[in-house]
Amino acid sequence: TEACLAEIEAADALNAFVHKTPELARERAAAADARLKAGDAPDLCGVPLGIKDLFCTEGVASQAASRILDGFRPEYESTVSAQLRDAGAVMLGKLNMDEFAMGSSNETSTYGDAVNPWRREGDEARLTPGGSSGGSAAAVAAGLCLGATGTDTGGSIRQPAAFTGITGLKPTYGRCSRWGIIAFASSLDQAGPMARDVRDCAIMLSAMSGHDSRDSTSADLPVPDFEAMLTGDIRGKTIGIPREYRMEGMPGEIEALWAEGRAMLEDAGAKVVDISLPHTKYALPAYYVIAPAEASSNLARYDGVRFGHRARLAQGDGITDMYEKTRAEGFGPEVQRRVMVGTYVLSAGFYDAYYNRARKVRALIKKDFDDVFADGVDAILTPATPSAAFGLGEMSDADPVQMYLNDVFTVTVNLAGLPGIAVPTGLDRAGLPLGLQLIGRPWEEGDLLNTAYALE
Ligand code: GLN
Repeated sequence: TEACLAEIEAADALNAFVHKTPELARERAAAADARLKAGDAPDLCGVPLGIKDLFCTEGVASQAASRILDGFRPEYESTVSAQLRDAGAVMLGKLNMDEFAMGSSNETSTYGDAVNPWRREGDEARLTPGGSSGGSAAAVAAGLCLGATGTDTGGSIRQPAAFTGITGLKPTYGRCSRWGIIAFASSLDQAGPMARDVRDCAIMLSAMSGHDSRDSTSADLPVPDFEAMLTGDIRGKTIGIPREYRMEGMPGEIEALWAEGRAMLEDAGAKVVDISLPHTKYALPAYYVIAPAEASSNLARYDGVRFGHRARLAQGDGITDMYEKTRAEGFGPEVQRRVMVGTYVLSAGFYDAYYNRARKVRALIKKDFDDVFADGVDAILTPATPSAAFGLGEMSDADPVQMYLNDVFTVTVNLAGLPGIAVPTGLDRAGLPLGLQLIGRPWEEGDLLNTAYALE
């Protein structure tokens, strides 16, 4: 804990930790020491972790990187962070992210950009750590903490993991409780571990998972000891390579990495087959209807009355003025865009044309996966991202749809509720990390982690 606290101070330029809690960390570390001495050491006893700012943490600022939650200090702890605490973990502080987890570059944060600790060879330009869990990825990659929580609605664990050369797992929808996690798109959001390798993710996932009566979508299923499932033996497994993920204009290096991953799995004794997921091309448009629709509803609660920021009002202003001014000041441009898109697609005249249609597409995407799993495929191998980390400012200045294209390989997994993991598997020509993604059958994170372990 002391070593990490020192690293955090030394790495201020990364802007990864946005609320530091050194006193609390020292208290918890001392308690962990005492438990160790007493011979009662749970799995994460004394392990220093960072927590994404989207998780409510008791008495500690929890703002989803938004101005609208200025000053919000919850009186309760999210289930996932409470479970990590109970497993002995030491929280070092809260991690930067895109505002309300909307983004792929950590550039929509009210705290400013988080910075990727990696640089292109011979180029000092600052790069994005990805998003929305950019602070989590930067902190783990730079060794500021041994692991971090992330959340993934459309790729926010896997894309930043790939951009920073770490491992990140998005569990099956319902594996981890969403209680106490500030909601973005409730039918897609999942918490998950981000850590240096597959083993650390496995250990964290066991602690983070489990049924919670306070989240009606959390699954009442036993939680395996995921670490114990890491044998590295994947003989006889069938891995699918989806043809629709071979995007036009995909960089040659990503193609090469994908082929290498395929060869590694074959060498380890898996059978690799070509598969088709025919509705893939509709995933991004469906996601960017469903996610904003749910967000517009979830974010309606930020009205200047119950939480955080409230605008200064003028003489004669009524309650509608208060809502409008507060929300105009409190939400950044990307969040406002999502609220507007979401409200539009849910409006009476357009509900069927957009929202209902997107839901139907979602069902078809899920069926694509169900079909290949029914055909005996155990896991699916794809690139994690269409490129390596890009420069800060490079994409955020462009049309927002350019930024949305970052999610092409990841959103299908959320729409279908499946587990997915990003594993660092190589470097590009500029020396930046690249990752591959493995997608697993629902509830088979143990198997998925083990396959990822063979890729490591
Ligand atoms: N980049 C996607 C978005 O902006 C996904 C974000 C996420 O997974 N939280 O919606």
